[in-house]
Amino acid sequence: MYHFFVNTSDIADGRIRISGEDRFHAVNVLRLRKGEELLISDDEGRDYHCLIDSFDDEALYLSIKEELSGNHELPSEVWLFQGLPKADKMELIIQKATELGVSHIVPMVTKNIVSRPDEKKMASKLKRWQAIALAAAKQSKRSMVPVIHEPLRFTEACEQCADMDVAVMAYEDERGMENLCEAIVNFVPERSIAVMIGPEGGFDPLELRLAKMKDILIVSLGDRILRTETAAIALLSMVMIRLEISKALLTDNGEGD
Ligand code: SAH
Repeated sequence: MYHFFVNTSDIADGRIRISGEDRFHAVNVLRLRKGEELLISDDEGRDYHCLIDSFDDEALYLSIKEELSGNHELPSEVWLFQGLPKADKMELIIQKATELGVSHIVPMVTKNIVSRPDEKKMASKLKRWQAIALAAAKQSKRSMVPVIHEPLRFTEACEQCADMDVAVMAYEDERGMENLCEAIVNFVPERSIAVMIGPEGGFDPLELRLAKMKDILIVSLGDRILRTETAAIALLSMVMIRLEISKALLTDNGEGD
């Protein structure tokens, strides 16, 4: 079944309106017609099973057959602050982070990034990254598409992280696993969680100091140096598994849906 994402403002009285590029894609590329069934997700994480009623030059009009109760989202907002990596590694990271349930991805310009972002090309890059997130969200049956933000400087990223309920920074020279244990205990539903990963060149000691000043928890991911994309996937996997376990426990106790 084809899957589309809409805004809640496109939904009214049991009907959904799809316009713009999505309408073009549905009608002209996929050749969807009256009677076709679609999976629709809104921007608040609800999923609907829908039928196409009609379409015109403006939009596709659907009726909602049922609101689906399964929940494919993590019970917390997870933010990935990713030091900008080389070439197409960011694409891999966006795809995997989306599969692992993140809600926001913020590329970070840190001291040791290998290639400086070309501002002129950034708009088209962001568009491409957002399209990768959309495709990965569909593939992994997410109910929401992560937002890919404009790159931030490390200091700005630290400010944002400081506003989250839990913020951790993976630092390759950190020793001991106590902080990671503490972080895992704090990855619980309803809390906003920020994860910072350095670029190939790693974090600079000054950046480490700044993060500590902002009360960001510095964690080790073990006694090997991981590539930046591996580090992001490893840490996000821990966040995801921990939140999924909490979600399952809440459901077993009858507190969730
Ligand atoms: N160039 C650096 C390695 C950077 S690895 C060096 O050779 O020392 C890229 C990023 O992945 C790091 O900045 C960190 O965020 C993360 N990372 C990799 N291995 C890690 C580890 N063992 N513990 C914590 N973070 C790690």
